[in-house]
Amino acid sequence: MLFDTAPKTNKQDLYNRETELEKFKAAIEHSSLIVIQGLRRTGKTSFMNVALRETQQPYIILDIRGLPFNPSQADIVRRIETAFNTLNKKWFSQLQTALRPIKGVTILGNSISLDWSKEGIDFATFFDRVNTWAEEKDTKFLLAFDEIQLIRGDKNLIRLFAHIIDYNQNLCLIVTGSEIGLLFGFLGLDDPESPLYGRHYTEIAIRNFEESESKHFLITGFAQIETKIQEEVLGYAVEKLNGTVGWLTSFGARCRENQEATKAQVDMVASEGGKLARSEAEKIAQYSRRYSVVLNYLAAAKEASWSQIKSIMEAHENRSLTNSTVSDILNKLVKASLIEKNDEYSISDPLLKHGLLENPLPER
Ligand code: ADP
Ligand code: MG
Repeated sequence: MLFDTAPKTNKQDLYNRETELEKFKAAIEHSSLIVIQGLRRTGKTSFMNVALRETQQPYIILDIRGLPFNPSQADIVRRIETAFNTLNKKWFSQLQTALRPIKGVTILGNSISLDWSKEGIDFATFFDRVNTWAEEKDTKFLLAFDEIQLIRGDKNLIRLFAHIIDYNQNLCLIVTGSEIGLLFGFLGLDDPESPLYGRHYTEIAIRNFEESESKHFLITGFAQIETKIQEEVLGYAVEKLNGTVGWLTSFGARCRENQEATKAQVDMVASEGGKLARSEAEKIAQYSRRYSVVLNYLAAAKEASWSQIKSIMEAHENRSLTNSTVSDILNKLVKASLIEKNDEYSISDPLLKHGLLENPLPER
């Protein structure tokens, strides 16, 4: 059912991601690193779940929510252990024989336990073994990390990624992330100092739906829940929710609960979406109030040129600023996917705009 709010796991519930699924399928054959990228609630987790399942190959998903910013080796080991214990039993029973001889690995019945003390497991050895096993089985072993940017400052994990990419041809790393800047900041794909610098990767962008797709998504979803929606409400929802599948789904779920589809429900979802978008913008605003000044201004102004923004910032601080100061702020906002630069600068996400207009970021 399309309006089920949990991340999707079945292909039949995943609307219109055929091209991306094809790309994913092709990529695991030749790529060691796949980056699934998209804004919040565009359906990255859902896409990853379905894509992994469709491959019919062994995979594990590492859930890294709730890990501290700078996780310890023990934290990571425990997550890997948990992930291996969710591996499809068909693969697990074959793999356990291969893993048993490794120092720090204990197999107890149908579960694996890893020694997380300092002298415990060596992950390079561990994954080399998984790789050899996959090679023998003529398959790929897929290792997926959802919202990878949640871990920052952990160089061990990144070094392990580099090792896997360089030596383990039958392993494939898959990561998802919402803010491209932070994602690349974490992976360091364009940072010469990073262990992953210069590595080839495949990027799969999870995009917002076009208007016609949003409309068809809602019509199909409403038919499934056997609820009527008026043409006018439909148009209103399509316009306000901007093709973000997560918000379209929330709207549908809400209508299902209340047994009716109204504009007021669209507004409630838009307001919820606006708050979430704003809270993400607030994170960057904590580094400098200048970000708040620019974002608040663009929320109200629709779009503005570089020099208009410079004047606004100068007026706010009552002094002149260097060109590089202004460019630096704007570039970081673009990198964080909060604003967009075409001819002029603008906020592309109407929900973020909505959230900022409802409750501007503090400028002092
Ligand atoms: P993200 O990981 O990008 O934040 P999720 O995968 O959690 O997004 O999806 C957000 C919401 O949208 C969930 O309720 C999910 O069920 C729904 N959803 C995501 N993608 C699709 C899709 N292609 N078709 C139908 N529903 C989807
Ligand atoms: Mg997600």
